[in-house]
Amino acid sequence: MPYGAVAFDKIQSTDYMPALEEGLRQLKANIDAIAACADAPTFENTIEPLESCDRLFGNVGRVFYNLMETDADDLMHETEEKAIPMENEANSYVFMNEAIFKRIKELHDNIDNIGLTTEQKEVLKKYYRRFVTGGALLDEKAKARFVEIQNRMGELRIKFANNNLDESNAYVLNVTDINRLKGLPQDQLEAAATRAKEKGLEGWAFNVQKPCWIPFLQFCQDRDLREQMYKAYYSRGNNNDQFDNKAIIKEILQLRLELANLLGYETFADYMLEDRMAKTPQAAYDLLMEIWKYALPQAKRERDEMQKIIDAEGGNFKLQAWDWWYYAEKLRKQKYDLDESQLTPYFSLDNVRKGSFMVAETLFGIKFKKVDNLPVYNPSVETWECLDADGSHLAYFYTDCFVRPTKRQGAWMTNFTDEFNYAGQSQRPTIVNVCNFSVPTDTLPSLLSIDDARTVFHEFGHALHGMLTQCHYPTVSGTATPNDFVEMCSQIMEHWAIDPSILKQYAFHYKTGEPIPDALIEKMQNAGHFNTGFETVELVGAALLDMEYHMLKDYNNFDDQKFEDEISAKLGMIPEIEYRYRGTFFNHIFNNDYCAGYYSYLWAEVLDCDAFQCFKEEGLLNKETGMRYRRNILEKGSSDDLMKLYRQFRGSDPKTEAMLRNRGLIK
Ligand SMILES: [Zn+2]
Repeated sequence: MPYGAVAFDKIQSTDYMPALEEGLRQLKANIDAIAACADAPTFENTIEPLESCDRLFGNVGRVFYNLMETDADDLMHETEEKAIPMENEANSYVFMNEAIFKRIKELHDNIDNIGLTTEQKEVLKKYYRRFVTGGALLDEKAKARFVEIQNRMGELRIKFANNNLDESNAYVLNVTDINRLKGLPQDQLEAAATRAKEKGLEGWAFNVQKPCWIPFLQFCQDRDLREQMYKAYYSRGNNNDQFDNKAIIKEILQLRLELANLLGYETFADYMLEDRMAKTPQAAYDLLMEIWKYALPQAKRERDEMQKIIDAEGGNFKLQAWDWWYYAEKLRKQKYDLDESQLTPYFSLDNVRKGSFMVAETLFGIKFKKVDNLPVYNPSVETWECLDADGSHLAYFYTDCFVRPTKRQGAWMTNFTDEFNYAGQSQRPTIVNVCNFSVPTDTLPSLLSIDDARTVFHEFGHALHGMLTQCHYPTVSGTATPNDFVEMCSQIMEHWAIDPSILKQYAFHYKTGEPIPDALIEKMQNAGHFNTGFETVELVGAALLDMEYHMLKDYNNFDDQKFEDEISAKLGMIPEIEYRYRGTFFNHIFNNDYCAGYYSYLWAEVLDCDAFQCFKEEGLLNKETGMRYRRNILEKGSSDDLMKLYRQFRGSDPKTEAMLRNRGLIK
């Protein structure tokens, strides 16, 4: 279809498997042709055909996996089981191909002398790294060990996750005396009674899943019970029983180091950070410590404030870690109370979306035009065309906003088709934002919470990153950027969502059309500064712990608990706060790809706050600033050095100051 739009009206669930099979066949034929090429390798005869070798396979996959998340039927679930091994097959067919690696290596060895553009160099570097980190440079013996390590790490990862899950599921706090549950809200008590019944227990049952655990710590008046719940949560994987994860952690860390060493890196963190914006573990570490410096004193002030409440109530005890949520909740009611139900009438989905379009249209010189003739995969999906100032087509934008039974929870942005522009062929992207908001009725529009409104702006930020891209090669186009960069483009939009002057331009009462009152805006802003010392300390603490784990060069005498305690002491951590995740249940890094990468959230936050600060200085809706952001950030994907691009936009290195102020850590 025109501009890469997808003919959803012609696609049946039965079509995917034959299309994937044909796609895989074409991919293999394309790879064979590159490998068999008799000419000396060039970017044009090696990398460019690699960029397009999976065109059919990739296009079908993108449509298929997107729809798996929103509208899967039984046949699609069956198809997925067969499709995932095909993905693996395709990957190894490309990245285990020795003939192709030989060509890439020859290009890479001469990267500065073969007349490549900056973008082409970035693309070549990415292919090279992908092959090398897959073991392409290793001799036979090392390769065998490499495969062994990967297999063992796969096993350990599953064991770690299962221990976590099993131990969390096994834990239950059973209370039979209602007097001990004073303070808990009615809905929590009801849920706990149902839980007890399901387990064949008397009274009430509580677990360490967050929806149960957090309200328990916030509201239960009984200190002993809070202590039990607190300790149960934080000791997961650390009870010296069949679910213990300490030995697993040690082995994972040892294997990761061995893998990094095999590939020529000094530590696992060095290996992981090389192709991130931060580039080195030290850069990430320094930034975390800069935030830590301000977060810790703020957390201490919060602790002292809560101690005062305890003293005033005649508590006669020192605040402990399991008291934090309880007294923080009291403090919140005193100082930061915000009735969410007063806000929602001002945040109808239509108004919020108009607000997000208004910001982007003003800043980036683009236009969103509703289109009604594009085929959609579900009747509730809406479609827009994103046009440049001169009326030329930039992208199709699909929004799929409402909850339905087949849709996965959460919110996300993805591509249906990629952008590219090389070898005489080009295509603009098609992008979708998926959310789970309430379905409007005849009398009520879909009304959002403030968090939901931020989500609309957040995902729209990812969408803009995808839609405005002006790269040549899919490998570096749009949101194909590292973790520590990609969230800047989404998170920055959230600043406009909650800025007072912007709120006045889109947050209108759905019935009366009145703009949101100043008093409500003020309350909203004030509530944003609640408990930020605590939140920052537990988050930065976890990120530092992750980095420390992966910066070691020897794990022979490694003892996890000793190690965690040493890091706490080094940081001057206060006993009233723990790392958000202790090692033995730190799923992000031991069962996920965020290892040596948990810092990314904070890194990106520093960027988005600092970038937004630029708009604050030059004008929130200043088109010149907007265009500078568009040209240097939104259009560039990862086609150039990301820090260089950032500097070109900002005029200086990113500073932590705006982020610290935004979190209320400095004035
Ligand atoms: Zn995001």
